[in-house]
Amino acid sequence: MKLRPHLLRALAPAALALLTACGSTPLPPWPSDRAAARTAPAVVNMGSAAASAPAATSPAPAVIVEAVPPPGAASAAAPAEAAAGAGAAPYGPEVAARFPDPSTVYQTPGLASGRDQFSSNSEISGWLRDLAAASGGRSRIGLLGLGASQSGTPLEALVLTRAASTDPAALLASGKPTVLLVGQQHGDEPAPAEALLVLARELARGRLEPLLDRINVVLVPRANPDGAAAGKRVTAGGIDMNRDHLLLRTPEARALARLQRDYQPAVTVDAHEYTVVGRFLEKFGAIQKFDALLQYATTANLSEFMPRASEEWFRRPLVAALNREGLSNEWYYTTSTDPNDLRISMGGTQPDTGRNVFGLRNSVSLLLETRGVGIGRLHIQRRVHTQVVALTSVLQSASQRADDLGKVRSYMDREAAGNACRGEMVTSAGPTPQRRALVMLDPATGADRSIDVDWNSALELRPLKTRGRPCGYWLAAAATQAVERLQQLGVQVMRVAEPGAVLGESYRETARTSGERSDVRGAIADAAPIVQVEVALARGVLDTPMGSYYVPLSQPLANLVVAALEPDTQNSFFANRVVDALQSQARVVGEPTMRLEPLPAGSL
Ligand SMILES: [Zn+2]
Repeated sequence: MKLRPHLLRALAPAALALLTACGSTPLPPWPSDRAAARTAPAVVNMGSAAASAPAATSPAPAVIVEAVPPPGAASAAAPAEAAAGAGAAPYGPEVAARFPDPSTVYQTPGLASGRDQFSSNSEISGWLRDLAAASGGRSRIGLLGLGASQSGTPLEALVLTRAASTDPAALLASGKPTVLLVGQQHGDEPAPAEALLVLARELARGRLEPLLDRINVVLVPRANPDGAAAGKRVTAGGIDMNRDHLLLRTPEARALARLQRDYQPAVTVDAHEYTVVGRFLEKFGAIQKFDALLQYATTANLSEFMPRASEEWFRRPLVAALNREGLSNEWYYTTSTDPNDLRISMGGTQPDTGRNVFGLRNSVSLLLETRGVGIGRLHIQRRVHTQVVALTSVLQSASQRADDLGKVRSYMDREAAGNACRGEMVTSAGPTPQRRALVMLDPATGADRSIDVDWNSALELRPLKTRGRPCGYWLAAAATQAVERLQQLGVQVMRVAEPGAVLGESYRETARTSGERSDVRGAIADAAPIVQVEVALARGVLDTPMGSYYVPLSQPLANLVVAALEPDTQNSFFANRVVDALQSQARVVGEPTMRLEPLPAGSL
């Protein structure tokens, strides 16, 4: 196997050791910039039939849109009118003029002219059902039930594939990477759901259909239907589901966890909208400018191939696609709800958010945000256009990198498993404070205004707490809730079949406070306060009674296990009372010698 010099530089010693140990599957050579530039996708205006080309010669079909607006469609000249349905315009015509409608009109139930409501939950379900019912030709299209929301609304996904069926096994056997697109985890962020309806139609029977030669696609247009129906960020029970991907308290987060566990997407996109006026105007006296904010997974213990694949294979082509369409973009950023806190933060670094948890699942994980929260239906065609252009770029990139994605996914799975019992791991990491200029809009003139801000960079993570990586974790027989949650995440759990003993480390509490989980926005909308502890480790021989559990780290989801079971973090199972006592869990630091049997999922 030949490694390129620049690739060697990027490999940590541990990764090199693993490459040697598992050398049967060579790492894919990292593509040169020239190759990436050659395959950069072109966005073609789908209004022109001449733009169509056979998939064999053009792997990059395009955004479908209608080039000519139908009669009576809202025009770019009437942004204030478009906003009227949602109350007073949040800013004047000078700012609105910066965001003309695209030269195309998207049509979904919620985007029909004269509508003042976005697509309802039943309209979305009907749209997906119709596409699945009309399935034929070379593709299989299946509507997948993922359970029900807290108020009983069906949670649904659409699976599109050339495989023999839409079952997970058939997609995995296809050898093609699966791309998962998730929309509207936050109910008050409507554009992603409308855009995913457009994409579903184009993948089923439009210009994006040829992409299914190279990839499978799973779409969840509206992950939080209760929030959407109420026009609220949170789920019906008041929990922010996009901070629930490790704890899995909500049926909505569990639905996405099952989807991830079963379909093992190589790429996941989490599509949102962000606040345009509100606290930004309060703090900085300015309106937010960017059509799209972009980010990828930024949390501790990710494979170093994760940011690289995210950046080189996806974000750069995505930025180019947006620029070609005249859509401005920036790294994702947000600010806390505290009016006195003027810091700007790139997205959080905690292993609770979809973006970070999906990355810890070894799925290349991207965040897309359009400017939409708090402005009703204002600029909705432009917001949907931005989503469609961006998501299409991701699908095209995945199609072009299909072979590489399969190899990197397999490598990252083996790398995570192969690190068990050795080296250090980071149990807590934070962003790096920087200063930088951020462009916002003057609320009176609509002109660009550059503002120097305190910027917490999540791209450069600082380790705050490190600890040796154990071989696995022991859990007491009573820790059934933790076992169930781990299994819902897709983690393999073993049961101790005969009493034994292992070399282990138990946790001793040295300090305790009670508090709230928080992120860069402030306190998280959550179910209960947390227990924050400081711990010391005590090494010794650990009795492992029959019926207790062992969670090995020699598995692909090892870093998700670490996030859940090291107790002294705000997202841990212990802090959130999924594990009731520190004595119910311990680190196993020697190879386990007790007799273990696999615990089938759902057997508790
Ligand atoms: Zn959001």
